[in-house]
Amino acid sequence: MFFPSPNPSTLRLLLMSTPVGPLGSGLGGGVELTLKNIAQALSQRGHQIQIVAPQGSILNDLSDLPLIELIEIDGTLQPTAQNHDRQTPALIPEHAVLGEMWNYARHVQTEFDMLINFAYDWLPFYLSSWFERPVAHLVSMGSLTDVMDGAIAKTLDAFPGTIGVHSRVQAETFAFGDRCRCLGNGFDLSQYQFQSNPDPIVAWVGRIAPEKGLEDAVAAVKQLDTPLHIFGAISDAAYWQDIQDRYPDAPIHYRGFLSTDELQAELGRCRGMIMTPKWVEAFGNVAIEAIACGVPVVAYGRGGPAEIVEHGVTGWLVEPDSVSGLAEAIARLDEIDRHACRHHAEQHYSLEAMGERVEAWLNDILTQHQLRIR
Ligand code: UDP
Repeated sequence: MFFPSPNPSTLRLLLMSTPVGPLGSGLGGGVELTLKNIAQALSQRGHQIQIVAPQGSILNDLSDLPLIELIEIDGTLQPTAQNHDRQTPALIPEHAVLGEMWNYARHVQTEFDMLINFAYDWLPFYLSSWFERPVAHLVSMGSLTDVMDGAIAKTLDAFPGTIGVHSRVQAETFAFGDRCRCLGNGFDLSQYQFQSNPDPIVAWVGRIAPEKGLEDAVAAVKQLDTPLHIFGAISDAAYWQDIQDRYPDAPIHYRGFLSTDELQAELGRCRGMIMTPKWVEAFGNVAIEAIACGVPVVAYGRGGPAEIVEHGVTGWLVEPDSVSGLAEAIARLDEIDRHACRHHAEQHYSLEAMGERVEAWLNDILTQHQLRIR
């Protein structure tokens, strides 16, 4: 049987996207951008990438990169896991795109050196031991259900080192957190333009869904009478309607789901960005996107944003669930130096550094795999 040697300059990688939505739809949340960033970083390092994603996916800025190919797969999208309680079982709809994507992967796996799974779903973890090629899993959320914790733990026992996470605080939500590889995240900062003179508006960016706590940001700007521009896909229409019903006079403007290029231009015009997670957000891509444009962040001191925001340097951390705390911090946004925000993004969240970390992780997994099959 042919097993290619792990030559770091020419890995052939199969990237398995989230089955929750097509790439570019926003339904998949931060995973969509994370996958694109990792694909870009790895292709810049000379690796060949094929991305497998639900039908209707678009790659926008990646389409001109020669080493990246997109395969679209038809099927029913996966329900999101965010609102499950601990006992919710693994759910797989009929003609699930998740199953179809992994069926495709099974057929083509030997054309690749390894697979990277971006789905927070039971099936890919379960399937890892059935694949000839090693599977690296980048886990995009903290612990949510017992069935997922069990599937990830079993994968980690069978294939140590194959579970990656974005932040330590995310890892700590799992009993096995100390065995996860923390990769942070990285962004193509050339896509984000620094803007020094903002308009008197603030932004809220993310999927519109209960775990994101948009209602608190709306309540805070209503107190201050500061305009809030809201950007993101509506994941939960009833929740969004409820906010509009509760705050009919709030100074809020829904701007839709924008491409990265449009988003950064609009975000850069804002005095600040507000993050109000009600859950342990694994990372919070939008915090980096904001500071990359020079926009300070006001965030609840919970989850990934609490690790990203440097209190008093790149924004203000606020006591979780305190609307008055948000309002006070928004009023103090102008004390933050916008140049320091951009500088912080460049120092800590470059695409190049992320590419190096991911490549080192993949090479470790390949080395382990070779020892196992010898
Ligand atoms: N986003 C976007 N356009 C918008 C609003 C949001 O592309 O108009 C993207 C944003 O770039 C980020 C993602 O949506 O990558 C939200 O990810 P985050 O990690 O903040 O939260 P998640 O949705 O994964 O919980």
